[in-house]
Amino acid sequence: MRRTSSDERSFAAAARQLLGPDSLVEGAAATEIYGTDWRGVYVREPLAVARPRSTQEVATLVRLCASHGVGVVPQGGNTGLCGGAVPASDRSEVVISLARLNKVRNIDALGGTITVEAGCVLQRVQEAAAEQGRLFPLRLGAEGSCQIGGCIATNAGGMNALRYGTARQLVLGLEVVLPDGRIWNGLRSLHKDNTGYDLKQLMIGSEGTLGIITAATLRLFPIPQRRSHCLAALASIEDALALLARLQAAFDAQVMSFELMDGEGLRAAERILPQMRRVLPLSHPWYVLVEVATASVQLDLDDMLAMEMADASVDGIIADGVLATTISQARDLWFWREAIVEAERRNGPSLKHDISAALTAIPALVRELKKVVPAISQGTRPVAFGHLGDGNIHFNVWLSKDCTGSQAAKISEQVYAIVGQLHGSVSAEHGIGQHKVDLLRQVKSPIELELMARVKSAIDPSGLMNPGKVLRREAGARGRMAG
Ligand SMILES: Cc1cc2nc3c(=O)[nH]c(=O)nc-3n(C[C@H](O)[C@H](O)[C@H](O)COP(=O)(O)OP(=O)(O)OC[C@H]3O[C@@H](n4cnc5c(N)ncnc54)[C@H](O)[C@@H]3O)c2cc1C
Repeated sequence: MRRTSSDERSFAAAARQLLGPDSLVEGAAATEIYGTDWRGVYVREPLAVARPRSTQEVATLVRLCASHGVGVVPQGGNTGLCGGAVPASDRSEVVISLARLNKVRNIDALGGTITVEAGCVLQRVQEAAAEQGRLFPLRLGAEGSCQIGGCIATNAGGMNALRYGTARQLVLGLEVVLPDGRIWNGLRSLHKDNTGYDLKQLMIGSEGTLGIITAATLRLFPIPQRRSHCLAALASIEDALALLARLQAAFDAQVMSFELMDGEGLRAAERILPQMRRVLPLSHPWYVLVEVATASVQLDLDDMLAMEMADASVDGIIADGVLATTISQARDLWFWREAIVEAERRNGPSLKHDISAALTAIPALVRELKKVVPAISQGTRPVAFGHLGDGNIHFNVWLSKDCTGSQAAKISEQVYAIVGQLHGSVSAEHGIGQHKVDLLRQVKSPIELELMARVKSAIDPSGLMNPGKVLRREAGARGRMAG
C-alpha cells in the first residue's frame, strides 16, 4: 500500500468531488484490477482510478491532473501486451478508465461510417455495424475485452489486416482530450482531406502518450456473403510465400487472413489441449490457415479455393491440405491457430517477440532465429506463428526450467539483433508500452528519437500523458508531484 502525500490527498478529494464517489477507485482494488497488466508482469498501485462518463468529464479530470502535476494513464480493456495501460513511473499517476464512454453515437450505413465512444468494446462495434448490414473488419483474439480506443491507441492489426489494413487505415476521425484538458474535435468522415498535417495519424499508435481518445469515426465495409477456409501443410516458409502470391493473384483483395503456424508448436499444443481435433497429419514443419471472403454471392469460393490448392499441390508448393466445407470445420481450423497461443500460456513462462520484416526476408529471419535459440539454452522451444501475410511473426520461446535469467535475456537480445540485421521491426503490432522503452532507444536512429521527443514535448510539454511509456523522460523534467 503506497503512502499518499497531502498534495495527493487533496487531488483525490477534488477528483471525488468532480466525478462523484462511485467514479473513483482507490487502494487494493485499484491495483488489482487497474494497476496490473494483462500478463501480470507489471503491477503498480495508481494514486486512484477515475471512471468518467463523458468526454467533458475526461477533459475536466485531465485539467485537474495538469494543475496537480499528476500523471495520466489512459486505460481501455487493459489487454495490451506491453504494460502500456498501467502506471510505470515513480510519480503520482491516475489511471483514467474509458469503460463508461461506451455509446455508439451514430451509424451511417450508406456512407459507410460509424462513430463510437472510445470505451466501446471492439466486439460491440462489430455487432453494431452488423446490425446495420455492414462490417467493421478489425478482428483480434482480445476482441471481447479490448476497447476501440485502445485498439486505435496501439494501432492494432489482427487477423484481417491483410485485407483491410490496421486500425490506422480504419479511422476517419478522432475526438481527443489533449494534455491541457482541451477537447480536439476531429470527428470527420472524410476519405480525402489534405489540409496540412494529419494529426489523427499522430494520435493513432501513440499509446496514450499524446492525449486521450474519447471517440472515433470508423470506416465500414460490405459484409462478406461467402467465406472459404483451408489449412495447408508446407515444407518451408518459402513455399508459404509462394502460396500467398498465388492466392493473391487469383483472389486479389479477397484474401482476408494468411496465418502461419509452426508444426513444432502445433505438436506441443496437441499434447497440451486434448480438445484439439487432428484435421491434418502433424508431421509437417509448417502450416498456414487461409481465409478468403467476398461480398458477391455469385462466386463459388470453395470451388475456386479447392482448385488453387490442387494446383499448388501439383506444383509441389503444398504438401497436404484440407478445405473446410462447414462452419464447424472452419472453427476447427481457427482452433489450430488459437491453440498455439493457449498451449503456450498453459505450458509456462515464455519470451514473446512480436516482430516483422519484409515478406521475402521472413524465411531467413525465422531460420536464423530458430538456430540461435537452442545454441543459448537447450530445451527451450522456439515457436513461430502469426500474421505471415503482413510479414508479422510472433516468435515466442517457451522456456525450459533450466533456462536462466541471463540466458533468457541473451535470447531476446539475439532475436532483436537478427531482426535489426534484416531491417525488420521489434514491435509489429503490440507497441512499445513500458516493456520496450529501452529497446526502442537501441533500434531507432537518433534523428527519429529526437523528432519523436520533440513531438511529445510540443503536445505534452509537462510529460503528463502516460509517463514512462514509449519515450522515457530524462530526470529533472518532471511535474510537481513527481516521485
Ligand atoms: C489474447 C490477445 C490477443 C491479441 N491479439 C492481438 C492481435 O492480433 N493484434 C494486435 O494488434 N494486438 C493484439 N493484442 C493486443 C491488444 O489486445 C491490442 O493491442 C488492443 O488493441 C489493446 O486494446 P485495449 O483496449 O485493451 O487497450 P489497453 O491495454 O487498455 O491500452 C493499450 C495502450 O493504449 C492506451 N490507451 C487505451 N485506451 C486509450 C484511449 N482511449 N486513448 C488513448 N490511449 C489509450 C493505453 O494507455 C496503453 O498504452 C492481443 C491481446 C490479447 C490479450
